Amino acid sequence: MPATERLYYSDSHLIEFEARVIDVTERVSGWTAVILDRTAFYPTGGGQPSDTGTLNGSRVVECIDDGDNGVLHVVQGATPARGAAVKGRIDWLRRLDHMQQHTGQHILSQAFVTLFKAPTKSFRVLEQSCEIDVDLANPSSEVIERAVELANNVIWEDRSISIHNVTPEEASELPLRKDPAREGELRLIEIDGFDLTPCGGTHACRTGEVGMIAVRTWERAKGLIRIEFVAGIRALADYRKANKSAREIAALFSAGRDDAPHLAAQMIEENKELHRRIRTLEETAATVEAEQLFAETVATSDGIRVVNRVFNGRDVDSLKKLAHALIAKTKTIALLGSRDEGTARLVFARSEDAAGDMSTLMREACALVDGRGGGKPDMAQGGGKNVDRLGEAVDSVATGLRES
Ligand SMILES: [Zn+2]
Repeated sequence: MPATERLYYSDSHLIEFEARVIDVTERVSGWTAVILDRTAFYPTGGGQPSDTGTLNGSRVVECIDDGDNGVLHVVQGATPARGAAVKGRIDWLRRLDHMQQHTGQHILSQAFVTLFKAPTKSFRVLEQSCEIDVDLANPSSEVIERAVELANNVIWEDRSISIHNVTPEEASELPLRKDPAREGELRLIEIDGFDLTPCGGTHACRTGEVGMIAVRTWERAKGLIRIEFVAGIRALADYRKANKSAREIAALFSAGRDDAPHLAAQMIEENKELHRRIRTLEETAATVEAEQLFAETVATSDGIRVVNRVFNGRDVDSLKKLAHALIAKTKTIALLGSRDEGTARLVFARSEDAAGDMSTLMREACALVDGRGGGKPDMAQGGGKNVDRLGEAVDSVATGLRES
């Protein structure tokens, strides 16, 4: 006979019980674990986290299933002695939450089987939501919402949920949703007229207790469809969070909650259009700026104009636009630098009819600013972290070109 009689098997709503300590052990990561002759505490297993609560007022922080050796109650605080009578109390809200998620999973999994013959391969209760991995062909949000709708209808029909203990032979004659994972006598959970499956967890007495089910999101994972859902208490918490986010976004538009999505889409479109216009204006500005710089620059004896400038806060794109506008003119070399957010940026370029290898010159300049760069003979770019020497780097290349 197993060491611990598991009271939660026959009554998932039992939250207070009396028992006797049959063993006390120190073996669980430095904490003390207590084994009782009977317990209402559900230990971690089957995708469902363990119950917490108290034993004679001391906290039970976790329960571990030790098979035939019983259930280990990990106790924080005063530990009852071997042979002592104890009063156990389960944290009801946590138990209710787990029952809602777990029973909700039975219902949702059967909904996928009923509608799409899609079996659930695994199940996990996470911190704030739950996951099932479903073998579902051709998934879409519409397909998944159909299963959610059926699941909620079953919840609101408030069907009864019953427990049957059967032999493996009896079980083999029954239409079970999944194969039993264990040998010997089986515990079957039946949702009246909807689902029959072997399970050792804690379940609601009626489907109505689950409250409701909502799917948060889904994705493809390892050949299956991973569906994140919430039931009962968690569905309400998630609704509150989602509603708060949606209202905060709507407030930015001074609009009602349900108008926000199309206003956000509209704003993104406008933003794209503005970017397009800015690009056009930048090109025009670069042409005008290039005219000015060109006019201010004295040509060398062989008619080459070396335009060298260092700016503040211009990014590479802006430097390149200006360089392109400059070398659109004949016999021009552009040596441009920028101090941009603590980084030295450089763009060198020349018109087709000017001499010089911009790539080689760029490497020389980059050595001075502790950076790297390169490119083609007529266009090169680079950068470095020594912003203080940027002016010197550009000037020395310019002087070299003018004197050559
Ligand atoms: Zn179950």
